[in-house]
Amino acid sequence: MSTLHPRLGQTAARFIQREHLLLIDGQWVAPRAGGRFEVEDPATGLLIAQVAEGQAVDIDLAVAAARRAFESGEWSRCKPADRTRLLLRLADLIEANGDELAQLEVMDNGKPLAFARRGIAGTAEMVRYMAGWATKLTGEAVPLSIPGQWHAYTVREAVGVVGQIIPWNFPLSMAIWKLAPALAAGCTVVLKPAEQTPLNALRLGELILEAGFPPGVVNIITGYGADAGAALAAHPGVDKVAFTGSTTTGKRIVQSALGNLKKVTLELGGKSPVFIFPDADLSAAIPGAANAIFFNSGQVCSAGSRLYVHRKIYERVVADIAAYGDRLQLGHGMEAGNDLGPLISKVQMERVQRYIDSGRESGATLASAPRQLSEQGYFVPPTVLADTDARMNVVQEEIFGPVLCAMPFDDDDLSAIAGLANDTEYGLFAGIWTQDIGKAHRLAARIRAGSVSVNAHMVNDPALPFGGFKQSGWGRERGREALELYTELKSVAINLGQA
Ligand code: ADP
Repeated sequence: MSTLHPRLGQTAARFIQREHLLLIDGQWVAPRAGGRFEVEDPATGLLIAQVAEGQAVDIDLAVAAARRAFESGEWSRCKPADRTRLLLRLADLIEANGDELAQLEVMDNGKPLAFARRGIAGTAEMVRYMAGWATKLTGEAVPLSIPGQWHAYTVREAVGVVGQIIPWNFPLSMAIWKLAPALAAGCTVVLKPAEQTPLNALRLGELILEAGFPPGVVNIITGYGADAGAALAAHPGVDKVAFTGSTTTGKRIVQSALGNLKKVTLELGGKSPVFIFPDADLSAAIPGAANAIFFNSGQVCSAGSRLYVHRKIYERVVADIAAYGDRLQLGHGMEAGNDLGPLISKVQMERVQRYIDSGRESGATLASAPRQLSEQGYFVPPTVLADTDARMNVVQEEIFGPVLCAMPFDDDDLSAIAGLANDTEYGLFAGIWTQDIGKAHRLAARIRAGSVSVNAHMVNDPALPFGGFKQSGWGRERGREALELYTELKSVAINLGQA
């Protein structure tokens, strides 16, 4: 197809142009209603592929397949070491096909190839980390104090059939963050990727079959959120739904889940603060704070989108971060040398532009240099809005674009500083830059957020739990916690009779 980027490898190009179907019960099948929808390259706005539009009827079939696979016990009750072995095989396949997967990620999502490639390597590591947990999901013996002699213990069992709904900002990693712990725990899954970025989930489905997972353990339904996604969240045959996306959609998922009171985990939005103190190592803090918001064009739930700089260094730091953003090269992710790709869609680009306009209309000043962009895709340049304040929409609402709101602070009272951090409905992340490690610990303890980084941003290790306080979500991803949230805890008490 001429709309594909000329630097795209043949394997990725062939995959994109192939007919795309739904993965149900180990087979690639056409959607019942026969619908299809189009996928575009956000760096050009050109259509690159058509994928199957799964609907409620296809979700029914996928859930039935996942239920059969779960009840058969072939996966849920197999030896944990067998689950480990298959997951490790999948990790190897992800690595072996890393170049192709990275290119698909670029064409689907727009990010620069080097970042996509790094993300794929991290994805394989996440699978390996979770694979190791399959054999370590232990319960404990519980001493009882009631009369009689007892042997009591707890055991963790897979929660059952899981619906997983993921966003478009990191298509492959988001699929793996969801699939790997669920599979390690012995669940069976119906995965719905975002309609903007279905390609890598489909390629992953092929790798899952190649690795040898039993039919029905992983089912993949591409389709729209309001249709396939809503049907999955509401399905009475689903025991748990795990969702990553906007807080607004997360609230809808909770409502849909009410019918059968399925378990719900949510990884939602953020408006994360970054604090730079006067004693910080500015040679690290300035690029750190810049990348915290500009990486992936700001389309990161934990983006550091509110910047608080001590007044003593405010002017200089804000000017330097704006200049850092001005130097970032925008362009197609397949072209070497580009630092930032486009936003995911026209809708998202226009939304972000409206936020920038609204910030300026409400009194913020533009610290970034104005830029003329020649690209035809959905590009928005890095934008630093200085002298913002807590009442502005741009400071309160998640923008999900490369837009930083900078504010000075001149208080040395940590309660007041924590008050700034916590002045939001979100609680996903916070960054602290200071050389005073005691102060960093004291402030970290007062911030109501699921993750805090000191002298770093976005510490992405599979072992480190990630998730939100407040309206940033329920539950955790990564770490042992992610896995345990795909289990139910059962207690067994055995009457040992009289001696
Ligand atoms: P955005 O608005 O930026 O696309 P969303 O949070 O709405 O972000 O989308 C994240 C995921 O949620 C996508 O896979 C999308 O298809 C899905 N989704 C959207 N609306 C619903 C819904 N009502 N029920 C279930 N899933 C949904």
